[in-house]
Amino acid sequence: MTDIKEEINKEYTETPEQNPEMESLERPKVQPLDEVLGKPFKVLDDGFIRVIDYMGSDESIVQAARVSYGKGTKKVHEDRGLIRYLMRHHHTTPFEMCEIKFHVRVPMDCWRQWIRHRTANVNEYSTRYSVAIDSAQTTTEDEWRLQSAGNRQGSAGFAENAKGKTLTEKERYLQSLAREIYDERLKMGIAREQARKDLPLSTYTEAYWKVDLHNLLHFLYLRMDSHAQYEIRRYAETIGHEIVAKWCPNVWEAFMDYRINSSHFTRLEMEVLTAMTQGDKQKVIELGKSFNWLNDKGEAKKNRERIEFEDKLATLGLKAPW
Ligand SMILES: Cc1cc2nc3c(=O)[nH]c(=O)nc-3n(C[C@H](O)[C@H](O)[C@H](O)COP(=O)(O)OP(=O)(O)OC[C@H]3O[C@@H](n4cnc5c(N)ncnc54)[C@H](O)[C@@H]3O)c2cc1C
Repeated sequence: MTDIKEEINKEYTETPEQNPEMESLERPKVQPLDEVLGKPFKVLDDGFIRVIDYMGSDESIVQAARVSYGKGTKKVHEDRGLIRYLMRHHHTTPFEMCEIKFHVRVPMDCWRQWIRHRTANVNEYSTRYSVAIDSAQTTTEDEWRLQSAGNRQGSAGFAENAKGKTLTEKERYLQSLAREIYDERLKMGIAREQARKDLPLSTYTEAYWKVDLHNLLHFLYLRMDSHAQYEIRRYAETIGHEIVAKWCPNVWEAFMDYRINSSHFTRLEMEVLTAMTQGDKQKVIELGKSFNWLNDKGEAKKNRERIEFEDKLATLGLKAPW
């Protein structure tokens, strides 16, 4: 019987030259990402995001996916095909093999949304320990968004310029007064942890944020979406288009094709679509009524699911069938 200790020892002392089966490894490097390492991408008026470090690349994902049958990377087009397959079929763990660490500067209201993503590792600037960053996100006259009538969480259109001008002036006054009082409290010896309590949510904070690629894509999927708030969307778009696209181009391409620019149809929607393609208008109306999308007269009711379905039809160039 082979001595197990001997086997283990052999495995760890052999060099690739002694055993050609062993891969000789170099740390994966991605030149386009290395070129922007540490460089801040400006976001909003005084925010930024920069890459501090990263681990892995497109190839690491392929390598992890193929480990089950002990093969390394293959030809470039086969690697791309495998990544696209993994993305299409939600085989997510190979994407967790890549990690990235960012340094971000974000207004506190935006950070409050960001920090809800629990699958990252975070260290935030402490305003108990240090004086709060002397910068707050400002809004120009033409940037005041109006409350959306259709979506309670969203905005639609902009306030007229005269209103915008007043709002911007008042914002400037509020931010400078809040800062003045904060600085005054510090000068009077008040503890930083208490002095900060009236600083506005527009105050910038900074953090180190480390996340794996799978969870980063999940963040981007939610925060690049048109339903996400404009401010966090700007950060997500910068991460996606300026950073992930350089870091893992094949993953980015597959993500755009199979997540961002794709659509998912539910069982209910499929049934209506099938009736539509069969030209069965009566069935379409019956289904609409049974799903509570239409009233007894077959007219559209106020129903979010129906509206979402109609939006999907519109992306296919199809009109609502009722
Ligand atoms: C447009 C929009 C509007 C929103 N509105 C609100 C709102 O009004 N109020 C509000 O409170 N939040 C709101 N959120 C936040 C939202 O509910 C999520 O908390 C946030 O998007 C983080 O998503 P997540 O939990 O999927 O991500 P992560 O925390 O990054 O988690 C990623 C995935 O890991 C898994 N996971 C992580 N932790 C756990 C756990 N403890 N248990 C089980 N599974 C886990 C889940 O599958 C999860 O999807 C909103 C988000 C968006 C995008």
